[in-house]
Amino acid sequence: MLEDKNPARTSLENLGEFGLIKHLTQHFELAQPSSIKGIGDDAAILDFKDKKTVVSTDLLVEGVHFDLSYMPLKHLGYKSVIVNLSDIYAMNAQATQITVSLAVSNRFPLEALEEFYAGVAQACKMYKVDLIGGDTTSSTKGMLISVTALGVVDEKDISYRTGAKPNDLLVVTGDLGGAYLGLQVLEREKEVFKVNPNSQPDLEPYSYIVERQLKPEARKDIVELLQKLEVRPTAMIDISDGLSSEILHLCDQSQVGCNLFEDKIPLDPTVISTAEEFNMDSTMIALGGGEEYELLFTIDQADFPKIKGNPNLTVIGHMTSKGEGAHLVTRANTKIELTAQGWNSFGE
Ligand code: ADP
Ligand code: MG
Repeated sequence: MLEDKNPARTSLENLGEFGLIKHLTQHFELAQPSSIKGIGDDAAILDFKDKKTVVSTDLLVEGVHFDLSYMPLKHLGYKSVIVNLSDIYAMNAQATQITVSLAVSNRFPLEALEEFYAGVAQACKMYKVDLIGGDTTSSTKGMLISVTALGVVDEKDISYRTGAKPNDLLVVTGDLGGAYLGLQVLEREKEVFKVNPNSQPDLEPYSYIVERQLKPEARKDIVELLQKLEVRPTAMIDISDGLSSEILHLCDQSQVGCNLFEDKIPLDPTVISTAEEFNMDSTMIALGGGEEYELLFTIDQADFPKIKGNPNLTVIGHMTSKGEGAHLVTRANTKIELTAQGWNSFGE
């Protein structure tokens, strides 16, 4: 593929704030019936009729949550939306609208923001959500992104973190550990590149896990699947900070304990082979690795026949009484206490 060595660089100052917003958002159209008024007035207007409204916000800071040296801006735009939609799906709700707010320094040309919005647009299209507003301002250093997602849910379908009961089954979607290992691969290649800028990384053997890091998906399909199967999770959370930390959140907020079985944790073959290459334990990676955006939920045992055999869903354990605590049952059948090894931006 030929790379453009001199991409156009249009300074943001030439456009002015109003021109910039107009330019970036002109191709976004409203598709949700609940979006009455989107971008263009002082505020957006929504009409959710008799549904409950779900709202979630994330703030992403360059150098803390993302590194532009290996994260293409289009992917960043996509991922910024996905991480928010994931929180809406984790309430067992459907996402309907987003707002996107940006602060950028003058190091970013218009073309960079166009790339970012191309990613936002792709996510909106894939997940059928409307961009209905945001804010745009300058920063003295780096890029900050705040996305707010809105969604709707029937009151009876809401899945809080608080509803798990002893004997409920613990279920996870997809497979785990890929996003973390994808990041390890990208960081290794970045170091190699620093030493030898002519090196061409061969990421092909790692394409699955690199994609899990750079282009994660949110599990809209699972909310629809559970609806179809007539299963309402008793509690649900999305995996943004690693499996063990999310399990502990469910245990803590539902006042229950848990047994998680090591041999049940779903791992992709690329995760197993790459973990070996990095001399890491794949279970530890699945427990501690963040940014998966899979869903973790509990169901009543009576619902087991409805989910049994579904390739998207894996039963990895069951809840117990609070007094029994939260444990990992290893392959060797020993019980070790679960601790949170989740990501922590404050480096705790
Ligand atoms: P105000 O001065 O009232 O904050 P703005 O000029 O910032 O208004 O915004 C005008 C319109 O453009 C609003 O509908 C706002 O939601 C929208 N908007 C501003 N920035 C963005 C952005 N980065 N992405 C999407 N919509 C935006
Ligand atoms: Mg504004």
